[in-house]
Amino acid sequence: MSNFKYILYDKQDAVAVISLNRPETRNAQHEPLLRELDQAFSLGEKDDEVRVIVLRANGPSFSSGHDIGSAEAKEYHKAHPLKPGAEGRYWSEADKFLGLTRRWRDLPKPTIAAVQGWCIAGGLMLAWPCDLIIAADDAKFSDPVVRMGIGGVEYFGHPWEFGARKAKELLFTGEFIDAQEAHRLGMVNRVVPRAKLDEETLALARKIAEMPPFALAMAKKAVNHTLDAMGQREAMEAVFSWHQLAHAHSQLVSGSAIMGMDAQKMKQKSGTA
Ligand code: ZN
Repeated sequence: MSNFKYILYDKQDAVAVISLNRPETRNAQHEPLLRELDQAFSLGEKDDEVRVIVLRANGPSFSSGHDIGSAEAKEYHKAHPLKPGAEGRYWSEADKFLGLTRRWRDLPKPTIAAVQGWCIAGGLMLAWPCDLIIAADDAKFSDPVVRMGIGGVEYFGHPWEFGARKAKELLFTGEFIDAQEAHRLGMVNRVVPRAKLDEETLALARKIAEMPPFALAMAKKAVNHTLDAMGQREAMEAVFSWHQLAHAHSQLVSGSAIMGMDAQKMKQKSGTA
């Protein structure tokens, strides 16, 4: 097992198991966590014994999203200031959010996300790029960032994951959908009891790991390329620019790129406190 500071990396035969390990923040993602996660995906990618990669999370929730409130994140931003204007945020988010999630989405090995509890905003950006999603029956999904003056998270999978009409409803309201609804919409592959999430995910991973790896890689490429041919990549690129426009607008009108919101205010507004 390789231990990082914010995640755990474990190998169980042909399956690499990556665990988000910041449960005290419900696995909020600050940049150090995302960089470690990228290194862990690389370990799985480069290890020929690994056939399937599982992404799971310790604690009650998969991920509460990007870290917009912890002292640790504030400290990190202070030590790594962005260039002024829209420029710094644009390059930073293009790399650490859109860039990393797109790289993980196209890793040449099957990936499975195991999701329990909250999967909010940036949390979706960890689950969606995975090829399969197994949800515990207590999982709840939402992207409430319109409240921050932003039209949706940086990896704009919403219309592809929910269908266009539901995507609009969920963005406009910031409401949660539960695991069953996510399954009905085709966003998750299976819903399992919370207590069986790891067991069922590992069983599926082991089953897939028995298939020829090159054929798996080609099957994955075929589906992802089909989505790209349908415009997914180009649409995400355009939406990312509007996402940055919204940050810049918020900065101009409120003095904050996210309308002065932090984790506490978002909790109060979305009723998840
Ligand atoms: Zn952003």
